[in-house]
Amino acid sequence: MTEPAFVTSELRYAGFCRHPEAMLIRGGSWRPTSIPALFAVLRHARFGVILFDTGYTSRFLEQTRSFPARVYRWLTPLVLNEADTAARQLAGMGIDPGSVGRIIISHFHADHIAGARDFPSARFVATEDAYHRVKRSGPWGRLRRGFLPGLLPEDFPDRVDLLRPEDFKSEGLPGLGPGVDLFGDGSIQLIRLPGHAAGQVGALLRLPGGARQFLIADAAWTTRSIREDRPSHRATGLILDDASSTTETLSILHRLIERDPSLDVVPSHCPQRALRQGPGPSSPGFTARPPPA
Ligand SMILES: [Zn+2]
Repeated sequence: MTEPAFVTSELRYAGFCRHPEAMLIRGGSWRPTSIPALFAVLRHARFGVILFDTGYTSRFLEQTRSFPARVYRWLTPLVLNEADTAARQLAGMGIDPGSVGRIIISHFHADHIAGARDFPSARFVATEDAYHRVKRSGPWGRLRRGFLPGLLPEDFPDRVDLLRPEDFKSEGLPGLGPGVDLFGDGSIQLIRLPGHAAGQVGALLRLPGGARQFLIADAAWTTRSIREDRPSHRATGLILDDASSTTETLSILHRLIERDPSLDVVPSHCPQRALRQGPGPSSPGFTARPPPA
């Protein structure tokens, strides 16, 4: 019998910002911690290299020079070594950024799409809900939604495949509903994660040997939040699309890992996870408390 289709997954981080840990998780320390911006390099035997998000690039700084976008830069003080961008890290892995065929955009916050312009041949996939919500916003609405349109390539509308509600019909996950089977072979399912940003999706991966990894973007900010079902600081409610569904999604994730501890759930900004994984080839300033034993 042949093995079902799978992808390999390599977690990487491009840039980080600094915030008190207590903002990420209620009851956390008020000491600042480094909050990494994840992207994942997925490889599929037939479809080649696929990225899940892109992390930061210095375009974030270019795009936040003037008001009101400048406020975004104050809220998320970025530390970025150019060698840490997704394109540079891929080149270091022997992957030509021009060969990346697909980029899954979990949602349109700047720390997830800042590298989009570095992959000229990639097609993008995102939900229609996520894209329309940010595209139709004015300058202040964009700031509130963490969206900087200049981060997307000019031909983005021609290169994006937008997922409509009726496209969600694969098995999915209990509590989160059906997913979109990206390649029709079960290797990557995109699954809705409501609350943090309109139309946010995560990627449920089937890895070699059948293990499963769930890239959940910003549905939770740390692994501990999920384990303890403990949300972020109340103040972060201001930037959430919907605070009550954020809490609900977190509880669903908590129940999922209780039921299946082998499911590897990966938040995009967990400092401890990045520390375990290696935060980036040149992030000497990255400091976070080591994962609890
Ligand atoms: Zn984020």
